[in-house]
Amino acid sequence: MTLFANRLWWLGFFWIAVELPAIGQNWAELRTADTTLQLEAGPSAPRMVSLTDASRSILINSCAEALVDTVEINSQVVKVQWQFNQSASRSDTRRVAFVYESQSPRLRLTWEWQARAAFGPLEHQIRIENLDDRELWLPLQDSIQFRWRVQSQTALEQVYIEKGADTPSALGTRRVALPVGYKWHGASSTYAHPKENEPREIIPWLLVEESGGAKREWYLGIEFSGRTRLNIERGAESLNGTAGLNPEPGPFRTRLERGESFDTPVVFLGTSLGGTDNAGNLLRRWVRNVLGNPLTWNNPNYPLLVNNSWGGGMSVNEAVAKNMIRDSADLGLEMFHVDAGWFRGVGDWYPNPQKFPHGIASVADDAHQRGLKFGLWVDWTQAALSTEPGSLNARDPKVRNWLVTDVPPDWKPEEFKGQTIDLGVPEAKEWAQHEVDRIVTDYHLDMLEHDGYLVAQGCDRTDHPHAPPDNWNKCIYKAWGSYWVDSSNSTDVSYHAVRAYYDIYSNLRKNHPGLLLEVCNDGGRMVDFGSAAHADYFSITDTYDPLSNRSAFYDASHVLPSAMLESYVEKWPTPRAENFLYMLRSGMMGWMTIMMDTTSWNHEQHAMAKEEIQLYKAQLRPLIREADLYHISSRPDGVHWDAIEYFEPRAERGVVYAFRGSTQTESTHTFALNGLKRSGTYQLRFHDHSARDRIVTARELMTTGLRVRLPRPNSSELVFLEKR
Ligand SMILES: [Zn+2]
Repeated sequence: MTLFANRLWWLGFFWIAVELPAIGQNWAELRTADTTLQLEAGPSAPRMVSLTDASRSILINSCAEALVDTVEINSQVVKVQWQFNQSASRSDTRRVAFVYESQSPRLRLTWEWQARAAFGPLEHQIRIENLDDRELWLPLQDSIQFRWRVQSQTALEQVYIEKGADTPSALGTRRVALPVGYKWHGASSTYAHPKENEPREIIPWLLVEESGGAKREWYLGIEFSGRTRLNIERGAESLNGTAGLNPEPGPFRTRLERGESFDTPVVFLGTSLGGTDNAGNLLRRWVRNVLGNPLTWNNPNYPLLVNNSWGGGMSVNEAVAKNMIRDSADLGLEMFHVDAGWFRGVGDWYPNPQKFPHGIASVADDAHQRGLKFGLWVDWTQAALSTEPGSLNARDPKVRNWLVTDVPPDWKPEEFKGQTIDLGVPEAKEWAQHEVDRIVTDYHLDMLEHDGYLVAQGCDRTDHPHAPPDNWNKCIYKAWGSYWVDSSNSTDVSYHAVRAYYDIYSNLRKNHPGLLLEVCNDGGRMVDFGSAAHADYFSITDTYDPLSNRSAFYDASHVLPSAMLESYVEKWPTPRAENFLYMLRSGMMGWMTIMMDTTSWNHEQHAMAKEEIQLYKAQLRPLIREADLYHISSRPDGVHWDAIEYFEPRAERGVVYAFRGSTQTESTHTFALNGLKRSGTYQLRFHDHSARDRIVTARELMTTGLRVRLPRPNSSELVFLEKR
């Protein structure tokens, strides 16, 4: 093995000499403009050797990947010995796949890294194939583990982001010191039920930053919606961690029949320089280019402006819908979205004949004739009690076995919630695939929203593909009218169900090119990179007042493209015109869905909304799609001022959304801008004329800052800037 001569590398504030091997048969290097990885195939395990950023600062990883070393066959624990198979391994500039094999039991493991774009992070996955002729059980294989060498005196901070599930928490975006002795655990699922005294769920991603001097970061995220977790722990000279499926509640095990494979959730690992927003700007662009749907992004009207029928609640009907469609078209909105209330019953996804005597397709056609797209709310994994043909009836013996547990004879569904079926069951998955295809085709949909709890939580069935539950560690409880199971197999249940969900949506996209998919899942509980790879936008919270919308946007926009982040704008007290604009704009930083009966707006509100919608299309949307985003204030608290800056570096223009909270005293505020070219001068345009338009230097905007004055609480301004 050849070694480079001792090269100098930056390592946690110290230039040190590091011996790095040359690329050879057992070595590989993958590189993007931002991140370089050196990889080594050891005889019995692979290792990520080092992670290097664009300034050639390097992190050395001192542990090999821990591969599963036992399996269970016929209830016996059998040792696995992995051996590197060089001839089966592949390596080029885009992909490295090191293959390991075990002779008995006969298994093949592929340890893969990929550069899917010329910039941003690298992706990693481990696949284990059962080539034996026996069924076997695998224990948990983590997606990744690392042990970075870090000097004890290096000051580090960690950033992580909570989901806006239900209502955003008081903190949301967390930045914490990461001293020696620090231990952290972050979990994500499709449930996000914060139990008392337990931390909230996170968007499965973390960032670690050297906090003194030049800012440099590395970040790690998980592209999977099932039960996952990230851990980090700082020792005296190291920073250790893991990411992948959540082993709790355990013990985790998953079945592999002969010929089957287990794929760890894909993780991505990258580095950046210059702070969290720079990392976010890289990551958002990478998510768009690598995970995003090109058909969606190629539509210049994405993100669309939407009117949702929930403004009128469950009482929507044909006349109400058509009236709202007419008004939506008049306002210049681009899609009409029928929310819950249109169907015969839960699990019975056919139009209620009393409310929609001419069906749903005729309403969709009406929207189409007025130039609008048409979207529909469906909670398509829910079974209930309807006996109409085509419905998913929980008492049907076939369907009964798809449920996560038997429901008692006196069980009744709620108005729009039933009992979740386990999509991991092949027959259930097939039914769901047909059902969503039918719904999209028959109802002429341009957008399908899924809500409710799509992925089963635990399951007490012993004849499903996932592991059976341990009976000593199983708890069945009832919440929101449904039965839930907490058991040792919860992670494996979610693993199978999420993969089925991804397949269903991949097929749906194939069959209906251009169809938009909204992930709602009870409002902000399924905001993760796996969803980002299989759908087009997220509901980021289930609470829709201006502060909740801005808070949830502030948080999620650190890691996901703004265009994908949907804010539902709900009725809110707006005694004055500026309050009305404040309410609208609090939901206008990404994807905006109005959830109010716009026909109840007065003439002035109507005119204001129409003008804002025009402004969004002409000036805001291009920036939301293309520009970099900077969090130029602390997180919104509803009292003080807050702001978001978009800046497009090529066209050298941008906008600042400035909000004054309820403060009675602070009538002006100054925001230091970010990302401008220091030498330039900029034309400032105050959209609401809260100040005179003027020319300023970039230097002033970035140091002294942009001063905004708003005389009244709960008001806003949009300040456009353009290079002169
Ligand atoms: Zn099940």
